[in-house]
Amino acid sequence: MGPARRTRYRVLDPILDLLFPVDCVLCDRRASGWRRGPLCPTCETAALVGPASPVCERCGLPGVAAGGVCAACLTGRTRYDFGRAALAFNDPVRQLVHEFKYNDRVSLARPLGRRLKGCLERHPFGPDCVVPVPLHPRRQRGRGYNQAELLAARLGLPIERGVVRRRRDTGSQTGMTRHQRVVNMRGAFECRGRVERSVLLVDDIQTTGATLNELTRVLKRHGARRVEVLTLARAGGDSNPA
Ligand SMILES: [Zn+2]
Ligand SMILES: [Zn+2]
Repeated sequence: MGPARRTRYRVLDPILDLLFPVDCVLCDRRASGWRRGPLCPTCETAALVGPASPVCERCGLPGVAAGGVCAACLTGRTRYDFGRAALAFNDPVRQLVHEFKYNDRVSLARPLGRRLKGCLERHPFGPDCVVPVPLHPRRQRGRGYNQAELLAARLGLPIERGVVRRRRDTGSQTGMTRHQRVVNMRGAFECRGRVERSVLLVDDIQTTGATLNELTRVLKRHGARRVEVLTLARAGGDSNPA
């Protein structure tokens, strides 16, 4: 957007706010209109904060000594080469992601995607293309969109949509242990053709990483040179499989 257009939008903002009022998802205050997405600037600053540091050098899990790697990375359970989460998984972020995924608040892709892009730029990622974690087609039809795809679209990198698909609906994994999730994910994805590139996987919330590790396994078997992971936040991590 050029400077002239930006100025015009700023002049129009109060009018647009009046015509199309948007309440903040978190505090019900009036947000500053469609331009920002349904999150007021106060909540955006207060709720969207980075994860506690230091984090695991490889996968980004918080609570690891500076410069160290976590148990999952040490023992080879982490299959992807590098991963980071953009945000701390606090109550407001949990609520925002819920609204984003289940209540059609797709405009949240804007503020959330901004944080994702910031995280991508701050860390040594080097992908050739982005692969949003696919939903099962039936689930995507029901929801009308894939939240990971909406986030990926904000990164300004080439997106590979057809390269990998979910061939089995793995259902909700809430309440499963880490091992149950690993078993549940086995064979869930299918790759079409050779990948031969460095891939960035994008998803909303990472829990145990079973989904991302299985996707990594499939992509690498089809020639992916490197697989990196970028998520909004990590819930629990290794110690808390819920
Ligand atoms: Zn607010
Ligand atoms: Zn790690």
